[in-house]
Amino acid sequence: MFYSAFEILKQGLTGNKGWKPVWRDPAPKPEYDVIIIGGGGHGLATAHYLAKTYGITNVAVLERGYLGGGNIGRNTTIVRCDYGQPGNSEFYSHSMKLWEGLSQDLNYNVMHSQRGMLQLCHSDEQVASYRKRANMINARGDEAQIIDRDTIRKRAPYIDLDNARFPVRGGLWQKRGGTARHDAVAWGYARSADSRGVDLIQNCAVTGFDITDGRVTGVQTTRGAIKAKKIGMAVAGRSSEVGAMAGLRLPIESHVLQAFVTEGIKPFIDYTISFGMGHFYINQSDKGGLVFGGDLDMYNSYAQRGNLPRVEQVAEAGMAMIPAIGKARQLRSWGGIMDMSMDGSPFIDKTHIDGLFFNGGWCYGGFKAAPASGAAFAHLIATGQHASFAAKFRLDRYKTGHLIDEGGHGASPKLH
Ligand SMILES: Cc1cc2nc3c(=O)[nH]c(=O)nc-3n(C[C@H](O)[C@H](O)[C@H](O)COP(=O)(O)OP(=O)(O)OC[C@H]3O[C@@H](n4cnc5c(N)ncnc54)[C@H](O)[C@@H]3O)c2cc1C
Repeated sequence: MFYSAFEILKQGLTGNKGWKPVWRDPAPKPEYDVIIIGGGGHGLATAHYLAKTYGITNVAVLERGYLGGGNIGRNTTIVRCDYGQPGNSEFYSHSMKLWEGLSQDLNYNVMHSQRGMLQLCHSDEQVASYRKRANMINARGDEAQIIDRDTIRKRAPYIDLDNARFPVRGGLWQKRGGTARHDAVAWGYARSADSRGVDLIQNCAVTGFDITDGRVTGVQTTRGAIKAKKIGMAVAGRSSEVGAMAGLRLPIESHVLQAFVTEGIKPFIDYTISFGMGHFYINQSDKGGLVFGGDLDMYNSYAQRGNLPRVEQVAEAGMAMIPAIGKARQLRSWGGIMDMSMDGSPFIDKTHIDGLFFNGGWCYGGFKAAPASGAAFAHLIATGQHASFAAKFRLDRYKTGHLIDEGGHGASPKLH
């Protein structure tokens, strides 16, 4: 079914009785060409690109819970492309280009809003460091600039520029940064993959791998054994757990990250803004809620909930940056399980088992990565070759010393 203004009009005039379910609910078949484990953003995007770009449609996505119930539906929705390290730089730049055409590609409104992203600097040294980052972003062909206090004051008068401890000296402005509706991204990819013949199988947890002579031949699941020639893992926070089922020891730790939303209030925050003296970022959703978050809870866990000390720290950072948010009442909070790699960068690679591929290590930044990650993982599974824009995300980089150390761009376990 093609979504359009005409279709809305037609359905509206005929009692809205013609809408079809957005995806089917098929039973698993005994065998597929490709199985993707994990119905999050990366797994569903991979299924979409496998079907659309490579015509591989005999594919199942196996999801232990419901589609989009993991981090893809739990994040703070920030989309940006300001990474500096070779490897990440070209990858996130490519992802941004895919975001810019994603609603059209999927025929589904993912509500990608390029409202602009402002990262505050609180010392002259931080301005200098962000100036270097702006130069790197511009050199790559994406746009960024350093803006001064007066410009920030005009754009965001609610920021406390003269905070006694953290005065604002300037900011890094990326006008193509912004947000997208996280659930819609999962649903849009799911709908597209399903419409091309991919089976999306929910409530189907993978519990083991069948491996013969170093080659994967299928998976054991809570809904029985399923055979496949190729299997891709995209299970984010459960990467270590699922990897261990195939004998993989991954350089990844699972950590909790929380998100918070206030009651809906009148629009006042026009951009996505991050604090430079701590880990705090905020935007305002289309429903009016202030959506914000901070640092990891900093202990290993598979629980999708966090603890109060982090709530206090996030509130402190938020109040230091925008004192007015102290008046908003918090409505909801939740946690997601982050697949933290030790250099802050992801993996899209083959494993030592023939036919088994791995996608993970997205840390707290994998929402914006979903389009390029899906495209690169589909390319690797379909062709056996690494996509040019994701060629450095190798599993052996800790052995070879080719780390992509993006640690300076946010918190990672190794820094604490
Ligand atoms: C609070 C929070 C805020 C964030 N903010 C941002 C942000 O602003 N910008 C940004 O770019 N990124 C952000 N992220 C990170 C981003 O959400 C993740 O990096 C990304 O969503 C991870 O990839 P995914 O979507 O595939 O993961 P998920 O949606 O978690 O998908 C993995 C799926 O695998 C399934 N699974 C696990 N084990 C099995 C099994 N054995 N069998 C079958 N299925 C299994 C899970 O149920 C899950 O649905 C944030 C994350 C959180 C939690």
